Amino acid sequence: MSGRCRGGTLTVRILLVSDVHANLEALEACLAVIPEHDLLVNLGDVVGYNASPNEVCERLQAMKGLIVRGNHDRACSGLTDLNEFNPIAALSAYWTRNTLSPDNLEWLRELRPGPLRRDGLPGVEFVHGSPRDEDEYLLNPSAAEISLRLPNHLGRIFFGHTHVQGGFVLENGKTRPVALRFERSTGVAKLKVPLGSGARYLINPGSVGQPRDGDWRAAFALYDDSPGSVTFYRVPYELQQAQERIYAAGLPERLAVRLGHGR
Ligand code: ZN
Repeated sequence: MSGRCRGGTLTVRILLVSDVHANLEALEACLAVIPEHDLLVNLGDVVGYNASPNEVCERLQAMKGLIVRGNHDRACSGLTDLNEFNPIAALSAYWTRNTLSPDNLEWLRELRPGPLRRDGLPGVEFVHGSPRDEDEYLLNPSAAEISLRLPNHLGRIFFGHTHVQGGFVLENGKTRPVALRFERSTGVAKLKVPLGSGARYLINPGSVGQPRDGDWRAAFALYDDSPGSVTFYRVPYELQQAQERIYAAGLPERLAVRLGHGR
C-alpha cells in the first residue's frame, strides 16, 4: 500500500467492495469506473447466490488487496455446514461448492476472518458482519450501537453482510444511520459524505452483487482518511445477463428476480 503526501501528511484512499456474491457483470461494471486508490479492501462474501463464482474469484485474485472472509465464503468452501442457511441460500451454496475449481475452493478456505487491521492505518478496522461476530447483521441503530460503544472501537469500522449501503454513526452520545440521498441519475451515481473527527463510524459500502436496499445498481465506496470522507457509488450493470446466467445454471429463479428489485 502506498499513500499520497498532501500538505505534509500521508493520506490513504481505500477502495471498499463487499458482497460481490459471484455476480461477474456487477463486478466488471464497478471495476470499469473505480476511482484512483491506494488499497483495495474486500469485506467478504465473494461467492454464493449468483452464477459466476470461478470468474469472480479469479478476477479478485488478480487484484492485490485485503480480503475479509464472509459467511458464504466459509459455507461455500465447506468450512461449515449449511444448516444456518435458508433453503435457497443453501441450494446456491451447494451449487457453488460443486462448481468451484479445487484452486478456488482452497483460496476461499484460506481467507482470514475479520476483524482485520492493516499496518499504517491507525483507527481503521475491517469486518464482514460486525467486530463482535462475522455473522451478526447490523441492520438498525440499536444493533450498531453495541459495536460502536466497544471500548476497543478504533473510530472507523468498515463492514458488509447486510447488503445495505450506508452504515451508522455514534456522535454526541447518539447513534443514527448514515443517511444517503443520491440524485436521480441514469449513469454512475456518487455521493460524498464527510466524516466528523469526534464521531465513531460503522460504514457499509453496500453490495456489489446483490444489493438489498431497494436500488438494483451495484454498490461500492471510497474512503479517504484525510480529512475523512466516504464517497458512495451506485453503478448500473448488465442485469439481464447476470439473470440469464442464474437461469442457465439451474439456480432458483428467485435469485434472478431479486437482483432486479434490489432486495
Ligand atoms: Zn452477503
